Amino acid sequence: MALGDAVGLVAAEAVIATEPIPPFANSAVDGFGVRQVDVNDAPNGGLGTELVVLGEVAAGHVSSIVVGPGEAVRIMTGATIPAGVDAIVMVEDTEILSDSTSQSSDLPSDGLVRERVRITRPDAAGTHIRPEGDDLMPGDVVLERGTVLTPAHVGLLSTVGQIHVTVVRRPVVGVISTGDELVQPSTIPGPGQIRDSNRPQLLAAVAAAGCIPKDLGCAPDDAEAIEAALRAGVADCDAVLTSGGVSMGDHDLVKVVLDQIGDMRWMQVAIKPAKPFAFGLINDIPVFGLPGNPVSSLVSFELFARPGLRVLGGHVITHRRRFQAIAAQDFRRRSDGKTHFVRASLETGPGGELLAAPTAGQGSHQLSGLASAEALVVLADGDGALAGDPIQLMLLG
Ligand code: AMP
Ligand code: MG
Repeated sequence: MALGDAVGLVAAEAVIATEPIPPFANSAVDGFGVRQVDVNDAPNGGLGTELVVLGEVAAGHVSSIVVGPGEAVRIMTGATIPAGVDAIVMVEDTEILSDSTSQSSDLPSDGLVRERVRITRPDAAGTHIRPEGDDLMPGDVVLERGTVLTPAHVGLLSTVGQIHVTVVRRPVVGVISTGDELVQPSTIPGPGQIRDSNRPQLLAAVAAAGCIPKDLGCAPDDAEAIEAALRAGVADCDAVLTSGGVSMGDHDLVKVVLDQIGDMRWMQVAIKPAKPFAFGLINDIPVFGLPGNPVSSLVSFELFARPGLRVLGGHVITHRRRFQAIAAQDFRRRSDGKTHFVRASLETGPGGELLAAPTAGQGSHQLSGLASAEALVVLADGDGALAGDPIQLMLLG
């Protein structure tokens, strides 16, 4: 894959350096290339020393200048190091002398009038030289297999001339919504109807998880229609997500169909939201049956589907990062045998601590409370947490 398109994907092969980086020793600063003995080893650490400037070397150029005793060369960041130079004085530690300010009356042997530079700080000559191979040497591992590519890796691979990278293919993930009540988001719902928000939400979540989303449409609460959509999906995709139809209602047919055509497990997970869930294989393709309530469907995706999709994408780290935080407000709950995942917004406290507060609207149908959340606070069964208590959270995004 072209390097620029590979950010977020997982390297399928290691990349090994074949040449040193940097490819040649060069200056790390703008200044004057000098001989250490002429500066730091001179009286007063070279403070006040004057050197004849032989010329200039800029980045992108190679100079034939040879620096001898009492001489210097003006040098720019990234420029090659002329012969004789073993140290650099930063431009900030020098001043250029006009004839009137120079205390020396020597003329160079070739009679040319040259600039002179005076050193304005003791011990100013530093090793501001980046050696060849300082970053990478031939044989060094540039990129380990399994690395998730970032913009920094794009830079790293570019510097070694690797313009393509072998990555784990993005899984294609189909999304089906189910429900007689659903209409397209672009239409005005009739009586008893609502807009289908799960399908676009899950398609977006699939893309955000690094997969290629495939819209498999919306099926009514009809076993034949659900079966047709599922069969089409597993024929074309690496994984399929469904929403709705996995709980206890008379029209929850997704779980019925999944049972008939696949090796499926339907379950109730002791969590809130997102209790109903189905998972299994149809023709070896994993199918995640997510609940219909919009918040439940995304929480279920985060907890169960996303880690599976990340595995398919070659990721080693498949789960969202968990952090310890402090409750900025009470997170009250009742004991019900379930772990609760509370939508929360985050802030940094006065001491640098991570503070979490529940968002307004914690119902499993209240998408506004989910949209304003940055994290899910994980509350074990019990009475919850009070303001100031330590809590665990799962970062979203
Ligand atoms: P279900 O899991 O099919 O019983 O649906 C539970 C709740 O989620 C019901 O209120 C449905 O109307 C709602 N729901 C199901 N699917 C969707 C969807 N795709 N978009 C928005 N709401 C949905
Ligand atoms: Mg339904």
